[in-house]
Amino acid sequence: MDLFQMPDFDAHEQVMFGYDAASGLRAIIAIHSTVLGPAAGGCRMWPYAALSDAVSDALRLSRGMSYKNAMADLPFGGGKAVIVGDAREKTSQRMEAFGRLVDSLGGRYITAEDVGTTTTDMEQVARATRFVSGLPRDSARAADAAPSVAGDPGPKTALGVFLGLKAAVRFRLGRASLEGLKVAVQGLGGVGFPLCRLLRAEGASLIVADSRPGAAQRVCQEIGAVEVPAASILAQDVDVLAPCALGAILDSRSIPTVRARVIAGAANNQLARDEDGEALVRAGILYAPDYVINAGGIISVAHEYRGDAGWAQVKAEIDRIPARLTEIFERARREGRATSAVADEMARARLAQGRRRMVA
Ligand code: NAD
Repeated sequence: MDLFQMPDFDAHEQVMFGYDAASGLRAIIAIHSTVLGPAAGGCRMWPYAALSDAVSDALRLSRGMSYKNAMADLPFGGGKAVIVGDAREKTSQRMEAFGRLVDSLGGRYITAEDVGTTTTDMEQVARATRFVSGLPRDSARAADAAPSVAGDPGPKTALGVFLGLKAAVRFRLGRASLEGLKVAVQGLGGVGFPLCRLLRAEGASLIVADSRPGAAQRVCQEIGAVEVPAASILAQDVDVLAPCALGAILDSRSIPTVRARVIAGAANNQLARDEDGEALVRAGILYAPDYVINAGGIISVAHEYRGDAGWAQVKAEIDRIPARLTEIFERARREGRATSAVADEMARARLAQGRRRMVA
């Protein structure tokens, strides 16, 4: 594996491999850019089949964080960590060892939750480093607590996705309400579950799937939905598809099967390749670029880390996601281009502007 030649390398500033024999930690931290500030992005734990898969995932996710933070106007760069392993085999020792690895970067990278890691894990990480966010601070612990800047970013990501999905529906389907609209949700975890709640409250009817046994039944019972097999969720006859599981689900095989006219969901890196954005345009599907629509969590985590804003301010910033998406949709339509290409160009322009400021 030649890291520098990998297609996903994309001029990363730093890639760090960490190993801890005592806890069995095998981790990679990828820092794509610190031009706009310290690299911020979550830590994913996943049983990658090969090391090259783990490296690719870290690189793709970390570049996505640079773009996401830039587009959300946050004073942070982009980075991401992956821990190789099954989340069910997680130990507090391993998370603490990961915390030491993060700490060794002296604040160039700030971690938080992602797929396979939780607020409890971040508490373990916080024993070894202060460069961590998404912690269950006291205000966020109470079950009846009002929305808070602290704690699990999942519900805040879900809120941003919900508002962004509504903007996409307005733009593509010309409808101001979700009443009676059919939405397919793939993945019912930290983001998918609260998203289902918001969609149902607004009158959408839900078709759901999760590869985890019992996850879909819970949504059906508690919220009201129809469960379908995980293998068929992308091809459901619905108005909107909300991918909230893993990335690279939209490719040359899956796109021709998608019947939804809008794709708006939380999963990072939904497009397998950049060209798949053009395939979605040809298929008449409006795609809400993932790192723009799913920024709610990082907006919250970023302010929690800086300690510079309450929930009202965070909510106000999440409320800006629909307008940002609509600007991308309008420009993509005007220029006859993919929404993903337009968003990438806007994000890269913000990074270039930051770089110019640095050298000035
Ligand atoms: P999660 O691990 O809590 O939930 C993911 C769910 O998807 C799990 O229940 C899993 O069983 C299910 N799943 C996995 N593969 C599946 C498949 N093929 N079909 C159906 N279900 C499948 O993760 P999460 O925090 O809800 O995040 C979901 C996605 O959103 C991820 O791509 C993540 O990177 C992205 N994201 C999350 C946040 C956040 O705040 N948590 C923020 C931005 C982006």
